[in-house]
Amino acid sequence: MLNKPIVIEKWQKKNKYGRPGTALNTKKIAIHYTGKADVDGWRTVSYFNNIVANGYKVNGKYIYASSHYVIDLDGTIYQLIPTDEICYATNSANSYAIAIEVATTGDDNHYTDETYKSMVHLCAWLCMYKGLDCKTDIITHTDIVGKAYKLCPIYMVKNPHKMQQFKLDCWNLKAGKIGIDDIINCTSPSYSPVATAYIPKLIKIIQDVNYHHSPDFKSSTVVGVAQAGEIFTVIGIIKRSDTNMYKLKSGYYITTSTKYVQKYA
Ligand SMILES: [Zn+2]
Repeated sequence: MLNKPIVIEKWQKKNKYGRPGTALNTKKIAIHYTGKADVDGWRTVSYFNNIVANGYKVNGKYIYASSHYVIDLDGTIYQLIPTDEICYATNSANSYAIAIEVATTGDDNHYTDETYKSMVHLCAWLCMYKGLDCKTDIITHTDIVGKAYKLCPIYMVKNPHKMQQFKLDCWNLKAGKIGIDDIINCTSPSYSPVATAYIPKLIKIIQDVNYHHSPDFKSSTVVGVAQAGEIFTVIGIIKRSDTNMYKLKSGYYITTSTKYVQKYA
């Protein structure tokens, strides 16, 4: 059973620009980014609650915008709108999507380790609480509006394999296969350097061996056992100081040791 993450409540007053009070029928969780790297998330909270909610015009038109949650650079999770009411963040999905605005860092708008951990914890918990599937029900804003309209969150849209890994991390946390302390920030620039060495497309297991949710051999990262005879698709090799690991198409990692696996194609 996954505990609810710590959430700082910053309830927005009822208002027509961000919190109309309309009932939300949650079917998806939509991830957004706050738009500019290295800007504190609490500024976004303040913008929604203290500026937009009071009626704020840009080019003569009122802004309608809000978010259920905002996650800050230090991992703090703010909640502005209850999850049984709609917010204005995800366009045509507003009637069924919980929205999470996330602060980003660096030129590529990736996530700090603290932010990433909070994203995974909050999304895994929301999927449990709302009866959703982490692999299919966590979406990007761009999934709804298309790339021509907006790349949001820009890092995940430009790096779809990271979005896949993020959803897998949420799924593993919800399923109890990993703990919160095991969450590894796959968006970190120092994560998973892929070797340029020859990478086989397929490997065959020759002796039962564990596979892992992150590229290390700790028992806490084990997510299952690959059985002798099984064949897996490889998408990369992770260089390690001891034994290297294959990254599998599923997002999991397995040893390159020829005691356990052999190249198949
Ligand atoms: Zn967005």
